[in-house]
Amino acid sequence: MAKYIASIPLGDIERIAIIPGGGRSMAQVKGDADYICNAGFYSMTTGKPVGHLKVDGVVRSKETWGCWGYAWDKADIKLAALPAAAKNYISGVEMLTPMIGMQDAMLYNPDVGGVRPRTAMALTGDKLLLYCADTPTTPEALRTALHRLGAETAIMLDGGGSSQCDFTGQKISSSRRVHNYLAVWLRKKKDKPMSEAYQVTPSVGVNIRSGPGTGYSKVGAYAQGTVVTVTATRDGWGQTEKGWVSLDYLEAVEAAQRVTDNGLRIQARYIDAGRKNRPCGVNPCGYITIHETGNAARGADAAAHGSYLNSAAGEAALVSWHYTVDDHAIVQHLPDGETAYHAGDGPKGTGNARSIGVEICVNADGDFAKARENAASLVRLLMEEHGIPIGHVVQHNHWNGKDCPYTIRHTSGAWEAFLALCEGGPCAKTNRQTVQARFGLAEETMDYLEAYRYGADLLQKLAAAN
Ligand SMILES: [Zn+2]
Repeated sequence: MAKYIASIPLGDIERIAIIPGGGRSMAQVKGDADYICNAGFYSMTTGKPVGHLKVDGVVRSKETWGCWGYAWDKADIKLAALPAAAKNYISGVEMLTPMIGMQDAMLYNPDVGGVRPRTAMALTGDKLLLYCADTPTTPEALRTALHRLGAETAIMLDGGGSSQCDFTGQKISSSRRVHNYLAVWLRKKKDKPMSEAYQVTPSVGVNIRSGPGTGYSKVGAYAQGTVVTVTATRDGWGQTEKGWVSLDYLEAVEAAQRVTDNGLRIQARYIDAGRKNRPCGVNPCGYITIHETGNAARGADAAAHGSYLNSAAGEAALVSWHYTVDDHAIVQHLPDGETAYHAGDGPKGTGNARSIGVEICVNADGDFAKARENAASLVRLLMEEHGIPIGHVVQHNHWNGKDCPYTIRHTSGAWEAFLALCEGGPCAKTNRQTVQARFGLAEETMDYLEAYRYGADLLQKLAAAN
């Protein structure tokens, strides 16, 4: 049983097409498409499509009634009232459209309802979501899942034994030959730019040398996770701001960088696939769970926890979470869309299976206030990316009663202050700096003001005061 959700940035799409199956299997149809799935209801009796369907300018199916569906010429996909003028359009069961909201009953034939495998498509503000699962679900649960992934509009494309996909290698197979497939091609990546960002990979870091080779003198080192820009390469070595490093120890950073609103670049260093603490379930990202590491040892920062999770010890302990945040870095251990073991509520518990786990470092040589600020900036990014409301930002304690996040829970008003920080955005920080400078207050006094029950509000008022 599998469930795959492709989340495709609209800007990356070269072309979207409906391809008539003509009795061919999905594998035969796929060609060089990056994503493909079955698409569109059809009558098992007549073998003809049902609803509104137009392929490359040719109307393939037309009904006497109108409905909402997706229409596009090349990649400019949007929800439209069908039939529409675009070269391509497709209809299905309206899940989220101007006619059908989250509270409304969907209109579908009873034999489409119930618990079945399903295929669907949806649009968020800037992404096309393709959903395909042979794990059965109801149309209503599917709608909720897509809504949680940020879907603003959604239609169900087909279901039952027809569900099949190949999303860049994530495959669900079916022997059923369907009437139509939906295929998406991504833009081909441009030639490598002159300067490219790389991330230092080995746990010990990498030496910096005065020239491209081990024969040159050592002039320093980059710590693991440091992101460096390589401006030139020679003999397997890359030139960086501080000197030359071996490319063997660098990993190209994906072009689409995630950066928080306070300027921290998220360092993705995933737990190796196949480790037991990477369960690989699908996480719909409905919640954010806040933890503290409880590890006060010096040096127990985000990078150290990342190394631990991707080690035999971390695997044996069967623990994992998505992000560790310290006073200078955010390290990501798992993709948001995967489940993890951090909430103590069992592998299928809502905490483990539906939330993103964020650990805040409490190492003695770190600045906890700064780490909290960085964690709040990460929470803001995740809330924005996944459409998670502030009410779904919860303590680990919420799931299984554990006394975590310990320091925050044991500091009066600190949790409320943290949530205010999560909601406040970077201006909350500006307020702190403004107030501190204007009134000449000590750090401790500022911490006290921030932790005060209405901390963010208070700072805002003080910052605005004449
Ligand atoms: Zn915890």
